[in-house]
Amino acid sequence: MNIPPRIASLHAEMTAWRHDIHAHPELGFEEERTSALVADKLTAFGIEVHRGVGRTGVVGVLRAGSSARSIGLRADMDALPIQEANAFDHRSRRAGRMHACGHDGHTTMLLGAARALAESRNFDGTVNFIFQPAEEGLGGARAMVDDGLFERFPCQTIFGMHNRPGLPVGRFAVRSGPMMAGGGFFDIRVTGKGAHAARPETGVDPVIVAAHIATALQTIVARNVAPTDTAVLSITRILAGDAYNVIPQTALLGGTVRAFSKEVMAQVDQAMRRVAKGVAEGLGASAEVDFRTLFAPTINDADQAEFAALICNELVGADRVERDPPLIMASEDFSYMLEKVPGCYLNIGNGEGEGACEVHNPAYDFNDRALPLGAAFFVRAVETKLKKG
Ligand SMILES: [Zn+2]
Ligand SMILES: [Zn+2]
Repeated sequence: MNIPPRIASLHAEMTAWRHDIHAHPELGFEEERTSALVADKLTAFGIEVHRGVGRTGVVGVLRAGSSARSIGLRADMDALPIQEANAFDHRSRRAGRMHACGHDGHTTMLLGAARALAESRNFDGTVNFIFQPAEEGLGGARAMVDDGLFERFPCQTIFGMHNRPGLPVGRFAVRSGPMMAGGGFFDIRVTGKGAHAARPETGVDPVIVAAHIATALQTIVARNVAPTDTAVLSITRILAGDAYNVIPQTALLGGTVRAFSKEVMAQVDQAMRRVAKGVAEGLGASAEVDFRTLFAPTINDADQAEFAALICNELVGADRVERDPPLIMASEDFSYMLEKVPGCYLNIGNGEGEGACEVHNPAYDFNDRALPLGAAFFVRAVETKLKKG
């Protein structure tokens, strides 16, 4: 691996930061200690710090030279509501809270890069270090964007990365175009008319209506979405009734939709409303649909993906950079930043064996061996994008 010496020399210190963050996990928008730690370190490195961007978000601004060029580098800071199963010294000190997605490692890699760049200033332009809260389904990226992130801290391009268990340490995976699905949750409330179960002719049975809706909704992916596009519609909840001899008044359906383009998400949203209402009305009931898009699809700009892959090639060699790996059905809210600024989200190997435990598992841990490599990616991306004249 071709790690710049200064970053290699920060490995022990970065590992200590990572363990400290891991031991003190905080849920989305509650990252008080973590954001204070980030702000204190950035300040100590001599970087201008802005706190409270998107509630608990932090932005560090580092300028060198006179160029108007700019770049954004993003890491997420939040943990998950999971009880950690690990017994090592840096295990979570907080019951029911755990860094089970490696955001402790992402934050540390970006802090390491910030320190190295603040020392060397080997670039010409502005670097915005973006420490995002609440990635795990709570809308932290959107909160920062809505708080004027890119108006206050303009970025011409933006980069972020997520660890990937199963991919060996020392490897990257970079995909151009769509990479991760957009996602939404939905609830459908069917209202019929309650009755005695032995006298259905006096009511409107919402259970039967919900069952027809559940079946009919499957025609959206099968018959409305083009076969060349990809979507998933899963009904994961059906709730109705409390007694054997009562036809209830209402039935509830809920579930999730995933797709790789905004257009397909919107198509599924519209079709769901049409099908649910149409089926309900046809059977004498009514249906209300609440469709909430929580994540946009993560779409990498082709040029910026190519750029990211070149940096990875330089660091680990082209044979260790997986190009265009399969689409990922999970979602990532960095997508909201990529909607505003062209950039690339990539994966960094968390290891086989030791580092292979899947994210969101109580036995997961970020692999400290990946820390210098992730920091080196950010540093080399800045030094190359904002190359001194
Ligand atoms: Zn996660
Ligand atoms: Zn994550």
